[in-house]
Amino acid sequence: MRATVIHGAGDVRVEDVPDPTLREPTDAVVRVLRSCICGSDLWPYGSMPASEQGRRIGHEFLGVVEDVGAEVSGLTRGDVVVAPFVWADNTCDFCREGLQTSCRHGGNWGAPGVDGGQGEAVRVPQAQGTLVKLPVGEDSALLPGLLSLSDVFPTGHHCAVTAGVNPRKTVTVIGDGAVGLCAVLAAKRLGAEQIILMGRHKQRTDLGREFGATDVVAERGEEGVAKVRELTGGDGTHTVLECVGLRPAVETAYAVVRAGGTISRVGAPQYPDVPADFGTFLRNVTLTGGVAPARAYIEELLPDVLEGTVEPGKVFDRTVDLDGVPDGYRAMAAREALKVLVRA
Ligand SMILES: [Zn+2]
Repeated sequence: MRATVIHGAGDVRVEDVPDPTLREPTDAVVRVLRSCICGSDLWPYGSMPASEQGRRIGHEFLGVVEDVGAEVSGLTRGDVVVAPFVWADNTCDFCREGLQTSCRHGGNWGAPGVDGGQGEAVRVPQAQGTLVKLPVGEDSALLPGLLSLSDVFPTGHHCAVTAGVNPRKTVTVIGDGAVGLCAVLAAKRLGAEQIILMGRHKQRTDLGREFGATDVVAERGEEGVAKVRELTGGDGTHTVLECVGLRPAVETAYAVVRAGGTISRVGAPQYPDVPADFGTFLRNVTLTGGVAPARAYIEELLPDVLEGTVEPGKVFDRTVDLDGVPDGYRAMAAREALKVLVRA
């Protein structure tokens, strides 16, 4: 089959790789219908040292079950399924606590011996715990929104949930990437009435407004902080959803959070430490968030996607076929595209 292999910074290729087959009785094989490129795929795309062998990449996909191992129940050939961005048994103590990202028997797509999502098919370890069956056909118009359940929508939701967003809490979302926009959508869905989106790409912040942002702050740094404070009577917001992962975004988060408030970060941190000095101590600021256990949220978010009350699939603004994946990376890295959908 054909699948995406990253060989180094700026070097993504679509190559022939072995067809996936069942290796463990807990495996399934899924033929991929849709996958996509994640903002976090851009980190290795920007900095991975060159490698002759390369490694498989892609961790968001949905597809059709082709084959299931003897110990997999509840899934049969022909089922349309979505996979969260890590695989997990969904039965161990961490999974039962809703922390499938810490599963004792789980792992990452694209790890050695494991297929990546950006390909024609995937061997799914721990298939029964990992895959969620979708009540749609292979040609459903909802596929982009359903694919967002793999990562970007649950990640935005996790950010809002861990920050404690509710109808009585004001919200600042930092970052107008796909996760930031999904955090806006999630905050709106949880009832927040004031949602300030900090982002400077108008097309993206326009989608943010459509998703529920009440205010947009395009300024950055001190100017941006002053704007958010102006919009909140000088205090900042109860919750801050940090969806970037760079140091200036974290500094802004601390500067716009209200005393007693909570910062949640889901932007994969590209910095070594966070400000937690005497000033934040005096203001009783809580820092939370982390990698999102997407699997824990899929069943909760699925009905709203199926009913169309939320449309997270709107974050996809470009579609490529498998051969177009390298150009999809280029377009996302160049910020020509917000998020690229791959039609396998
Ligand atoms: Zn587990």
